Amino acid sequence: AEARAAHLLEGLNPQQLEAVTHAGSPLLIVAGAGSGKTRVLSHRIAYLIATGRAHHGEILAITFTNKAAAEMRERIEALVGERAQRMWISTFHSSCVRILRREAKNVGLNSNFSIYDSADSLRLITLVHKGLELDPKKVAPKAIQHKISALKNELVDADDFASRANMNDPFEAGVAEVYKGYTQRLRQANAMDFDDLIAETVYMFRAFPAVAEMYRRRFRHVLVDEYQDTNHAQYALVREIVGAAGDGDGPEPAELTVVGDSDQSIYAFRGADIRNIVEFGKDYPNARTIKLEQNYRSTQTILSAANAVIARNPNRPEKRLWTSEGDGEKIIGYAAENEHEEARFIAQEIDRLTDTGDFRPGDVAVFYRTNAQSRSLEEILMRVGLPYKVVGGTRFYERKEIKDALAYLRVLVNPDDDVNLRRVLNEPKRGIGERAEGTVAALAERDRISFMAALRRADEAPGMATRSLNSVAAFVKLLDDLAEVAEGSGPAEALEAVLEQTGYLAGLRSSTDPQDESRVENLAELVAVVREYARENPEGSLEEFLEQVSLVADADQIPDAPDGASQAEVDAAVAEAKRQGVVTLMTLHTAKGLEFPVVFLTGMEHGVFPHRRAATDPEELAEERRLAYVGLTRARKRLYLTRSEVRSLWGQSEYYPASQFLGEVPADLIDWKREGSKRPPAVGTAGGAGNGRWDRSGGRYGGSSWGAGTSRNASFSSISPASGGSSATAAQKKGRVQPQKEVISVAVGDKVNHTAFGNGTVIGVEGAGDKTVAKVSFDVGEKRLLLRYAPLTKV
Ligand code: ATP
Ligand code: MG
Repeated sequence: AEARAAHLLEGLNPQQLEAVTHAGSPLLIVAGAGSGKTRVLSHRIAYLIATGRAHHGEILAITFTNKAAAEMRERIEALVGERAQRMWISTFHSSCVRILRREAKNVGLNSNFSIYDSADSLRLITLVHKGLELDPKKVAPKAIQHKISALKNELVDADDFASRANMNDPFEAGVAEVYKGYTQRLRQANAMDFDDLIAETVYMFRAFPAVAEMYRRRFRHVLVDEYQDTNHAQYALVREIVGAAGDGDGPEPAELTVVGDSDQSIYAFRGADIRNIVEFGKDYPNARTIKLEQNYRSTQTILSAANAVIARNPNRPEKRLWTSEGDGEKIIGYAAENEHEEARFIAQEIDRLTDTGDFRPGDVAVFYRTNAQSRSLEEILMRVGLPYKVVGGTRFYERKEIKDALAYLRVLVNPDDDVNLRRVLNEPKRGIGERAEGTVAALAERDRISFMAALRRADEAPGMATRSLNSVAAFVKLLDDLAEVAEGSGPAEALEAVLEQTGYLAGLRSSTDPQDESRVENLAELVAVVREYARENPEGSLEEFLEQVSLVADADQIPDAPDGASQAEVDAAVAEAKRQGVVTLMTLHTAKGLEFPVVFLTGMEHGVFPHRRAATDPEELAEERRLAYVGLTRARKRLYLTRSEVRSLWGQSEYYPASQFLGEVPADLIDWKREGSKRPPAVGTAGGAGNGRWDRSGGRYGGSSWGAGTSRNASFSSISPASGGSSATAAQKKGRVQPQKEVISVAVGDKVNHTAFGNGTVIGVEGAGDKTVAKVSFDVGEKRLLLRYAPLTKV
C-alpha cells in the first residue's frame, strides 16, 4: 500500500511531505499564501485512502467555498479514483444542512425546513420589530439582525441573551425581545437562517450525545481549510465532531488537520476568530505544528513587498515567504490626479501588456476596496474596448423577480414558510391587500397556526371583505394546483408552472417598464439554471434544488461580504471571466484564495484603503493590513499599486493622501511612473473625514453583471477630458484599441448558444467587424446582440 501511495508524495517539499504523511496527533499547518495548502490537504486525503489508513467514508473535509470543495474533490478523484465522489467534502454550511436534514426530528423540525438567507431573515426580523412597536431610530432592524447573527456565531441563544442583556439599554433590550420573537417565528415557519445551520448542529450534538457519538465513530479524519476564518460556532462544531479524549465511553478522538494563515484572516466582521488558529496548540495540547514557507506562486519582489507590509502588524509570529523563482519585475507605482486618470493608466498598461503577447486580458485582475470604485474603471475599459467582467455587483439571487419565483417554489415544498408565502401573497397583484393580509395574520396569531392554515380558514377571520375572501380562495386553489404539479414532476416543470399559472410572467411581458424586460430575461436564466440542475441530477427533487440554490446563493459563509456577493457567485463569475479571457474587476475580499499573473491594487489611499474606520481603531487597521497582504499575494508575475490624489466617492470629491501601506513597501521594490505630491496634508483632514457615511453596499453598480457587456448602459459623458498631457492612453493614441475578444462570425440560419438565453437561431446580421450586431431568436424572444461582447458560441 505504501508503494502504491508513493506517487502522491512526488514533487512535495520536505515540510509538505511531512504534512501529508503525519499520523497520530492533531495537525496544524500554518501556511503562508500560495505555499500549497490546498495541494497538501488534497494529497493528505488521497494518501490516507491509498495507504489504507482510512476508508473514504471516514473522512470529512471542510472548505471555505463550494467551488473549493468541488476542486478538491476533483483533485482527489484524479489521485484515488471515483471513491472521491462519495466523500464528504463540503463547506461548513453544506455539511450542517446534511446532518440536520438527517437528524431534523431531534431539533424539533421537519426534515423539509427552509433556509432563510439574510434578506429573508431581515424581513422576518422587521415583522417582529413592528409587532413589538420598537422605535426604529433607537433600534434599527438591520442593527438587530447584525447583533443576532453575531450572537448566534458565539452560540448565545435567545434565552442566554435575555438573561444577560442590560434591559436598561434600549438597544440590548430591543435585541433581546426581537431575538426571542424571531426564534419563535423561525420555528413556526419551519425555517433556519444561515447562522442557525451551524449553531443548531452544535446544540443538537450537545443535547443528544448518542447522535454526536455516531458522527464521531463515523468521521475518523476531519480536515479543515482556511481555519483562520472560522468563527466560534464553527470551532465548536469541529470540536464536537472530532470529540475529546474522555468524552464518555465514546471512540478515540478523530484525527484533526487544520490549515490556515492567520495573516489572511479577513472576516472578523462576521465573527471569524483568529484565536482559533493562534490557540490551536492550547485546545489540542498534543498537536503537531508544521510551517510551510516556500511560495510557489509569486516572484520574490512581490513576496518581499507582502512580507514587509504584514510585518507591521503587531503580535504575529515571524513568518517569511520565499520562492526559488527569482526577483522578477519591479512593482510599478502610479499616483494619478483623479480616479479617471488612474483608470486610464490601468487601461493603458493592460493594453501594453497584452499587446506584446506576454499576457491575455484574462490574466489580469484589478482589485479595489469597495464596489463604488469600479465605476470609473468600467467606464474607461468600455471606452477603450477592453473586455472585462465585474465580479460582485448586483446579486442574481437577490433580484426581486428571482426571489419571488423561488418564494413560490419554497412555499410549494414547505407551506408553513410564512415569510415566503407572504412575499408572494399579492405578487402579482390579485386583490389581497395589506388589510386582508393583516386580518389573516391576526387569525394565525390568535389560533397559533401557520399563515397558510389561516388562509384556508380565512372565512373565520373577523372582518374579512367578501371580495378578499374570493381572492384568497382563488390563491389557495392556485397553490394547491401548483403543489400537485410540483409533486408529480421535476423542479423545472414546477418553476415553469409557477411562472405561467400565477400570471407572473404574463404581467412582466405586458409591462411597458423597460426594467421588466430584463426581469423576463433573468427569469429565463433561472429556468436555464433549473434545467441544468435537472440534467445533472435527473433524480433531484424540487426540495433538493432549492437547497442547492440556498447554499449557492447566499451561503458559502459570506452572506454579509462587504461587496455583497456570495463566494459561489464570485467563483462562477471568475471562472466565466477566465474562459472569456477578460479582465476581472473585483473587491479585495472576493479575491481571497485566487491567483492572477497580473494584479492591480487600486485606490491605495488613506481613508479608502485602509478605510477611514481604521484611523481610530488599531484592530481595524490590522485587519485592513491583512487584506492588503491577501491582495499583494494574489499576484504571480506583475504587480501594480495605484492611487488617486482626488477621488469622488459617495458623491463627494475629496483629496486623499497616499495609503500608509504604500510607504510600508520597501522603496527599492517600486518603480514609480508618477509619484504625485510627496507631502500629504495632516492625517486629520484626510479621507473625506467630513463624510462619515460608510456604506458597505454603497455605489453598487446597477445593471447586470451576468449578461456580459451588452446589458450595461454606462454613460461616458461623465468622463472628464484628460487633464494631464501624460495621461493619454495607448488606446487614444492608436485611435481605438482592437477588441481583445475574437469576434465570431455568424450568418442568418446559424444555430448559436448564449450563456443566459440558451440556444437560438440567427435571423439577421447588421454592421461589420467589431460593430456586428446579430438578431437572434431565442426561446425567450428575439434579441439584438453586439457580437464582440455577447457570450455567444456557435453550435
Ligand atoms: P492561498 O493562501 O492563496 O489559499 P494556498 O496555500 O492554498 O494559497 P495553493 O493554491 O495550494 O496554495 O498553491 C499555490 C500554487 O502553488 C498552486 O498553483 C499549486 O499547484 C502550486 N504548488 C504548491 N506546492 C507545489 C509544489 N510542491 N510544487 C509545485 N507547485 C506547487
Ligand atoms: Mg488555498
